[in-house]
Amino acid sequence: MASLKLQHLEKIYPNGVQAVYDFNIDIEDGELIVLVGPSGCGKSTTLRMVAGLEDISSGKLIIDDRDITAMPPKDRDIAMVFQNYALYAHMTVYENMAFSLVLRKENKNVIHQKVLAAAEILGLTDQLNKKPSQLSGGQRQRVAMGRAIVRTPKVFLFDEPLSNLDAKLRGATRREILLLHKRLKATMLYVTHDQTEALTLADRIVCMSMGHVQQIGTPLELYDTPANLFVASFIGLPPMNFFEGTVRNGHFVSDDFEFALDEEHKKLLSGYEGKALTLGVRPENVVRAEEGIRLVVGLNENLGQTTLVHGTVGKARITAKFREWCDYREGDEVNVAFNRVHFFDKETTNAIR
Ligand code: ADP
Repeated sequence: MASLKLQHLEKIYPNGVQAVYDFNIDIEDGELIVLVGPSGCGKSTTLRMVAGLEDISSGKLIIDDRDITAMPPKDRDIAMVFQNYALYAHMTVYENMAFSLVLRKENKNVIHQKVLAAAEILGLTDQLNKKPSQLSGGQRQRVAMGRAIVRTPKVFLFDEPLSNLDAKLRGATRREILLLHKRLKATMLYVTHDQTEALTLADRIVCMSMGHVQQIGTPLELYDTPANLFVASFIGLPPMNFFEGTVRNGHFVSDDFEFALDEEHKKLLSGYEGKALTLGVRPENVVRAEEGIRLVVGLNENLGQTTLVHGTVGKARITAKFREWCDYREGDEVNVAFNRVHFFDKETTNAIR
């Protein structure tokens, strides 16, 4: 296994589209990094540059201490798992897993041992003689992972590996990848548009938007201290609620409600009197209170242990996540308080720290 450094990596496609701007990260040996962001933000381009499938416009790629920027893909010692599995339909599971080693002209016994070991790890021992068409989607994805494992690469790359699976299998396969990572202690770079996958899998998340890295940090850092409005709205489900307003006399004042600031926030926002701000509050931080902000219920969604209450505060929309089963009806009024809030500069969209 290995460390991987991306230094000032940029990609401009021949048609002039700049897909990636100044991407920098030092990935430690054994780290699982998840690259997350909406479609078109440059995740796959970044991954493909690391794999060597896309030319690098500028910047450097370093594995351990070796510059691999200009190295052809086959020499990089990197294995990629694709979302469409990319299995050979006419080959058995065994042959699919063995294929890259056969190409490398490895010793037959060594190949056999490696395929059996990978099949064991992935629970595919009974499936080795089947063709991909005889397997479920989840099993096919495991074969695709097996093909990567047998190569014992320095770095594993995953390109949206779960997106072709149904919701239930996605959860199960996600947990398998997490176990696999713990077992192999491998350096992994994983691309997804799904914030749940990012939060559950990553040692560190890289959140991207429009070709730019927005924030790099642990799942908790991104969830708890998002660097800007983009990260705050992208990470977390249901998403954070936002309200525009300003600070006046120790209060956050919007068209829809007033919110008394505590001492800490007064200090934080001391330079912002009268300036345009955005207040963010996560649904689980909207709590029921004796008195406070009046939420008018639009829709009550029971999820079992929790209830999502969608409604309005003044004219602004809000979603609250209460920890109990609730049975509100449309038009009911609930008093709520915000027990943890985030502030963003409306102009720069950066979090105010
Ligand atoms: P993501 O993986 O986050 O969905 P991509 O890396 O695929 O995003 O794409 C990033 C941007 O680069 C998009 O604007 C996309 O249209 C553009 N792009 C991707 N591939 C090419 C290409 N081969 N030629 C030109 N533009 C491309």
